[in-house]
Amino acid sequence: MASDRTADGSSGPATDEEGRAAARRRDLAVKAAVAQGLVGAAETAEPLVCLLDTAGIRASAKALTSAFASALAPGTPVLHAFAVKAAPLVPVLRLLADEGIGCEVASPGELALARAAGVAPEATVLDSPAKTVAELREALDLGIAVNVDSRQELERLDALVSAAPPRSPVGVRVNPQTGAGTIDALSTATATSKFGVPLRDPGARAWLVEACLARPWLTRLHAHSGSQGVPLPLIAQGVRELHALAEEINAAAGRRQVDTLDIGGGLPVNFASDATAPTYAQYVEALREAVPALFDGGYGLVTEFGRSLLAKHGLIVARVEYTKATGGRRIAVTHAGVQLATRTVYAPASWPLRILPYDAKGSPLTGPPLAQDVAGPACFAGDLLATARELPELSPGDLIGVPDTGAYFFTAHYGYNSLPRPAIHGFALTAPDEVHFTLARPAQPLTSIVEESGAAQRDALL
Ligand SMILES: *Cc1c(COP(=O)(O)O)cnc(C)c1O
Repeated sequence: MASDRTADGSSGPATDEEGRAAARRRDLAVKAAVAQGLVGAAETAEPLVCLLDTAGIRASAKALTSAFASALAPGTPVLHAFAVKAAPLVPVLRLLADEGIGCEVASPGELALARAAGVAPEATVLDSPAKTVAELREALDLGIAVNVDSRQELERLDALVSAAPPRSPVGVRVNPQTGAGTIDALSTATATSKFGVPLRDPGARAWLVEACLARPWLTRLHAHSGSQGVPLPLIAQGVRELHALAEEINAAAGRRQVDTLDIGGGLPVNFASDATAPTYAQYVEALREAVPALFDGGYGLVTEFGRSLLAKHGLIVARVEYTKATGGRRIAVTHAGVQLATRTVYAPASWPLRILPYDAKGSPLTGPPLAQDVAGPACFAGDLLATARELPELSPGDLIGVPDTGAYFFTAHYGYNSLPRPAIHGFALTAPDEVHFTLARPAQPLTSIVEESGAAQRDALL
């Protein structure tokens, strides 16, 4: 099979049948979104909408659970906890919960979302390098699993659990210091990362073993080696270090004190084509090679995937408002920019996105390719989703689709220029080519922008 032409003209992994089906659903959804008035060219139509493919999300959740279930010894306890920061939306958490997936939370806000979605404390994990005493106390009261990030946090916990052993499973996050991936800002297992207890610093490992032996309620170890850009073998190496440390602690304790390994998330996502690559099955295979004992049932497992569960199922649809030619550059000014694709705008080399051109009716736009810049609405020159991208010539009223944006893009809104959060609709096919939309988050009204910008404190600075 030929590989797809990609965002930057290079080749991405060949698109599989699943990817082709998803692409077909996407095209139907864009057309239906226009026909049903969710977005469009008309003066009264919304210029911007975000869509989530619920069948795709369910398929990813099933791929995750089945990849681990087929490798693990029968009966091994396993919790797949979705990293809420990737898509902090209550209906998304609820959908994932319906697929048996819990939540990894790292702030009081994320915990509140998980609870609003009805996710049980036993299916919730609290990670954060900056937990306050109040947050720790709330988690212990609820029975939520806690991963301690530092020596000082462990001392705080000592004080909190001195009365009675905690109901919550408590673990320690370690930094295996295995090294960086291709994106420094997302590499958490470097020698100097801010996360976890370092394993290779002088004396750190011995301290950690002692710290566990002194606290029988420390029953878990946690590592998350990074997100996008960290290659599978490096993630697997971090998990191997985690497993070896657990064996060392248990040998020293003379019992299986550490009973669960939380191996984090971080499966990279392919942004270059509709193929899902790598797959969860490939990740499990890489783990089996690096740490065969991980699957023998000796330890329960927790995972914390975010991007790989949601990214490919999100789509931005934005109207082209104007086009112009300036200094020899063709520019299409659209409504999708830095507020939705913050990382792409500020770090375009690390976060390239595909741009899919559609006409005003939502049909794929065809025509000879022309190099065009695709700009957003914000008032600074760098607000570009793509530069010199070869696309059929865009005209005012056309639409662009920005796929693969279901995690950390439109779900991580950036309030520049007081641009409002757009509506998010889930979609599903109800017949072979009929699309049903359900509102997952309403568009932010301007009254809300005004309110959150201190309207009630209007005279405060006089
Ligand atoms: C961000 C994060 C995750 C999820 O990472 P993905 O790359 O989205 O899978 C999991 N665990 C922790 C501790 C994180 O900080």
